[in-house]
Amino acid sequence: MTTPTIELKPSSTPLSDAERAARMVNPGFGRHFTDHMVTIRWTEGRGWHDGQLVPYGPLSLDPATNVLHYAQEIFEGLKAYRQPDDTVAIFRPDQNALRFQRSARRLAMPELPVETFLEACDALVQQDRAWVPAHGGEESLYLRPFMIATEVGLGVKPANEYLFLVIASPAGAYFPGGVKPVSIWLSEDRVRAVPGGMGDAKTGGNYAASLLAQAEAAAKGCDQVCYLDAVEHKWVEELGGMNLYFVYGDKIVTPTLSGSILEGVTRDSLLAVARDLGLESVEARVSIDQWQRDAEDGSLTEVFACGTAAVITPVGTVKRSSAEWKQSGGEPGEVTLRLRRALLDIQRGVTEDRHGWMHSLG
Ligand SMILES: *Cc1c(COP(=O)(O)O)cnc(C)c1O
Repeated sequence: MTTPTIELKPSSTPLSDAERAARMVNPGFGRHFTDHMVTIRWTEGRGWHDGQLVPYGPLSLDPATNVLHYAQEIFEGLKAYRQPDDTVAIFRPDQNALRFQRSARRLAMPELPVETFLEACDALVQQDRAWVPAHGGEESLYLRPFMIATEVGLGVKPANEYLFLVIASPAGAYFPGGVKPVSIWLSEDRVRAVPGGMGDAKTGGNYAASLLAQAEAAAKGCDQVCYLDAVEHKWVEELGGMNLYFVYGDKIVTPTLSGSILEGVTRDSLLAVARDLGLESVEARVSIDQWQRDAEDGSLTEVFACGTAAVITPVGTVKRSSAEWKQSGGEPGEVTLRLRRALLDIQRGVTEDRHGWMHSLG
């Protein structure tokens, strides 16, 4: 399959420096988008073609477009950080490209070559590099590659046409006022993903499936839902959009990939960063009862969630139908904060990138 080269058709009316600066003051997450986007088409028989960088703007879709009815859609999330020397680097985009291929296989979509995924991300960041926040804090440019089925018709089958896009959005520090622990609702009845399902694919359908449980958690005063396995309702899986880690002194444990857990790039990176810091890091099954018992007897010292958007979020309070407890006194734990700092320092380029994770655009 040939790799499309992206044709540059930049906007003749990008935002002025002053307007852009105003949007970047307190960008929050996913509220403002840069001046451009990348689009690449796929058609059966022809493959990937027509790669373009164009002004950011609405799509025009026939109401019978496949994705609007049957949700054949996948996405990614990754970040570009400004480095101390003012160059820009993206954190582990090759891993997102590979995961995008795995998600595509699961949803019977065509696989985008890794080098095309990288080329698309690079082209957009290069064009809109003024939107990458200044070096210094935890701000970044969040990239959202995604693919939708664009065949028109209501027949249920893998589509014969797809559109791949990359959009970008400046992301503020997740915790502008300092790292704040989240509260977790342990859902013992609703599940996010099932064995043989698509829990290990990054697809919008998994998020749609999580919204009701999320609303129920909010009604109970919790920020996030933790899902258990769908068969025994016993084994801890992950949150709606973040993986979980348990800290036992100087050992960190994350649930073993079960097929219904999304394989986070942050999760994977922390297995290595922990070892760099002299901690032990392992994957193991963790049951909900073990979680409660170990928290109560004090052997489980900290719990945190991790993902691209927040990097690392401490867990402060945990609630299940029969009990409620606090982790590390409801404060961010020491190991949690050390790991968070270590990973952010690699991403911001202030510490040695010993694993070769940063993809520099110069
Ligand atoms: C994206 C995602 C994560 C985190 O993955 P990262 O690659 O670390 O951002 C975790 N769980 C789910 C369900 C996700 O969609």
